[in-house]
Amino acid sequence: MSLSSLSALRTEIFHYIDAHQSDFIENLKEWVAVESDSVQPDLRKEVIRMMSLAAARLAALGATVNSVSLGSQQLLNGQHLPLPPVILGELGKDPQNLTICFYGHVDVQPAKKEDGWKTDPFTLTEINGNLYGRGATDNKGPVLAWINAVGTFRALKRAMPVNFKFVIEGMEEAGSLGLEKLLEEEKQGFFSDVDYIVISDNLWLSKKKPALIYGTRGNACFCVEVEGGDKDLHSGTFGGIIHEPLTDLIALLDSLVDPTGHIQIPGIYDAVAVLTDEEKKLYESIEYDIEEHKNNSGVKKLLYSTKEEILLHLWRYPSLSIHGIEGAFHEPGIKTVIPAKVIGKFSIRQVPNMDLSDVHQRVVDHLENVFAKRNSPNKLKVSMPLGAQPWVADVNDPLYKAAKRAIKTVFGEDPDFIRDGSTIPIARIFQTITQKRVIMFPIGAADDGEHSQNEKISRFNYIEGTKVFAAFFLEIAKLRGQSHETSNPGTNN
Ligand SMILES: [Zn+2]
Repeated sequence: MSLSSLSALRTEIFHYIDAHQSDFIENLKEWVAVESDSVQPDLRKEVIRMMSLAAARLAALGATVNSVSLGSQQLLNGQHLPLPPVILGELGKDPQNLTICFYGHVDVQPAKKEDGWKTDPFTLTEINGNLYGRGATDNKGPVLAWINAVGTFRALKRAMPVNFKFVIEGMEEAGSLGLEKLLEEEKQGFFSDVDYIVISDNLWLSKKKPALIYGTRGNACFCVEVEGGDKDLHSGTFGGIIHEPLTDLIALLDSLVDPTGHIQIPGIYDAVAVLTDEEKKLYESIEYDIEEHKNNSGVKKLLYSTKEEILLHLWRYPSLSIHGIEGAFHEPGIKTVIPAKVIGKFSIRQVPNMDLSDVHQRVVDHLENVFAKRNSPNKLKVSMPLGAQPWVADVNDPLYKAAKRAIKTVFGEDPDFIRDGSTIPIARIFQTITQKRVIMFPIGAADDGEHSQNEKISRFNYIEGTKVFAAFFLEIAKLRGQSHETSNPGTNN
């Protein structure tokens, strides 16, 4: 397609989207009205009803829809609860076209008016350009923006610039039960001809400036247990003549991180990817309000004073946090007890290229070493009950460049390239299992309040987000023929 006809097509598409704003908002209103809360068992039927609405909407686009049953889950009380199906949708099979697979979820977090909502959480309400309602930004709005972008090509009877696949689930807020297994099963099937995977289930870092997300930190959780005798003791009777488990534990926990936030476990930073000049540059233009972040935390001072240092330490360096001590006396008042067994809990948000088993081993070695120096007769046990891998993508991948161009076209500026300091397993899971390149392409703004009261997406973000997806399809279409020249996604992790 020539440049001028491409830009004419884009203009036509954007006009259509602008002219159909109320329809798109009506679609969102219909979806928000379904209380598809996947957390509370008695609302499971609503999640299942939501899945059929989503399936019907894809079918209306002309997509083939396969609602894959995932069986049931067993609750703690023994009750079996049906899992909502995962929708695998497919639209277009032109071998000349690239295939993008969109992942989204249509279940939501719990919400009740009395939690402090200004409006009914399940009635989409527009106030000052913001569309309030549970799921508006997480994740019903972005899913519909994508569907409506595809629908626009259909409505205008335009050729599909790419082939589309959809993975829509209804258990994201409850741990995506069964999804990983389905991805494994469909790796050679549904995913075999997918070129790219797009996830739009996050937010920009700023209220105004668009962003693309290319990394998330992992999380390795540790328990360190110190056990003395088999019963708690009285400090009047035994204080001063025994090695106290809690004293040992505090010494162990104190050895983990110094007052500057530096982790003191020998060799822990060895594998951390080296910061390149190119990567450092990405941080300069990022729109980020340190004061606001500081105020949100309620603390007086952060460990770092510049935007770059703060973001680097949130996103691409590991951190260690101490969470608690099980078995220690924590009630108000005084109890002169010497606890017999205490368990310290801490976690390391690890980053590329830290290997989980290596991190585990270093933590064990370090704690055993510190403990040995105390000559304590108590028993030490270190375990890592939970370990989630970090994820990082290559921002120079054509996929990211295409998204960047689409953003520039619609918003008139380049996106921030950002990471997330938390652990969001979904991108990593898709990338590891399917071996496809993954992008996190948010359209919601930093203040959308996902999971909290008064969740919203602005009309602007919802409608411009629809346009940016449509523009992205056209950018992806331009990549035809170059898709296999790029690097393997597994190499930079
Ligand atoms: Zn979400």
